[in-house]
Amino acid sequence: MAYIIAVANQKGGVGKTTTTINLGACLADAGKRVLIIDADAQGNATSGVGIQKPDVGKDIYDVLVNEDPISEALLKTNHKNLWIVPATIQLAGAEIELTSQMAREMRLKLGLAAVENDYDYILIDCPPSLGQLSINAFTAAHSILIPVQSEYYALEGLSQLLNTVRLVQKHFNPHLAIEGVLLTMYDRRTNLGAQVIEEVRKYFGDKVYDTIIPRITRLAEAPSYGMPIVDYDPKSKGTEVYTQLAQEVLKAHGE
Ligand code: ADP
Ligand code: MG
Repeated sequence: MAYIIAVANQKGGVGKTTTTINLGACLADAGKRVLIIDADAQGNATSGVGIQKPDVGKDIYDVLVNEDPISEALLKTNHKNLWIVPATIQLAGAEIELTSQMAREMRLKLGLAAVENDYDYILIDCPPSLGQLSINAFTAAHSILIPVQSEYYALEGLSQLLNTVRLVQKHFNPHLAIEGVLLTMYDRRTNLGAQVIEEVRKYFGDKVYDTIIPRITRLAEAPSYGMPIVDYDPKSKGTEVYTQLAQEVLKAHGE
């Protein structure tokens, strides 16, 4: 059965999508069958794995709002062992449309139930908010992976995120766990980075991954070619660090 990880932080631009795509591709390279769920109306995970709008028939909106079978929205990416349920801009309406629907928090969980035996890992790329889409992701997931940008205000907003986690644990998903905290966009040229690492480690303890993702230009370039870093530049530092992260995640699951 698939292990489901929501990649979440309601701050935008902290590396959620980059981590979803590249951790997903590295887990796939380790022989795991990986499904990415794009739960952000911006569709950055979708385009980032090379899916163009005309390729998309049904998408995650149809699964959540119309309860269409997830199999109808699933697409294979060009990367071996990596699939995606895409998002398009129509997902922007879902937050409001779901509000008036029955069992709205359970929609993604129910949708994923049909395919959970087909994958080893399902990674959900969450939007930069704590609305219905994130609550659906937290309700469906076994755990949450939190990317934290290595900057001065890194911890700001995380108590809000953890409050939402507690609410979801209380009402919908008692076993929801913190998978890990990932420091991203680390800049070794400033002292600030080291302070932030210390602060985050103090707060989250051994939940913080040993792997730290530096700021790497190639990682920012890859999405515009519709490729994970492992395909865009197999020899880059970006490939090395996300491969290392995948090893840590696998190890945490006894693999
Ligand atoms: P989020 O999904 O949290 O909004 P993204 O993954 O889209 O964040 O990252 C925000 C921007 O920063 C994107 O343009 C992305 O390409 C870039 N980026 C992400 N991680 C890195 C990194 N380690 N080094 C350099 N640029 C990065
Ligand atoms: Mg994103």
